[in-house]
Amino acid sequence: MSDIDEQKLYERTIRVWGKEPQMLQVIEEMSELIKEILKNVNRKKDNVAEIIEETADVEIMLGQLKYCYDIEKQVNEYKAEKLKMIAKRLDEWEKKEK
Ligand SMILES: [Mg+2]
Repeated sequence: MSDIDEQKLYERTIRVWGKEPQMLQVIEEMSELIKEILKNVNRKKDNVAEIIEETADVEIMLGQLKYCYDIEKQVNEYKAEKLKMIAKRLDEWEKKEK
């Protein structure tokens, strides 16, 4: 990882550029990633470089979103539960496949 303190940077983005513009930027970056995924899957485009860039953009914007709403901890807890649920579903699915 870089030397940059992500939390401090996210605090700065919200303070300097404002909550609303940054939350709109979350949507914009997500739509850019959606577009690249569609190009890759639908049009078989060789655009992994673009997918990498847009994924990084979305992760950065999600960092700002979590900072903005102060929900990092809750998201992590929810995510842990969801991951367990997915693992359980996969176990059941794979059992059926056999
Ligand atoms: Mg982008």
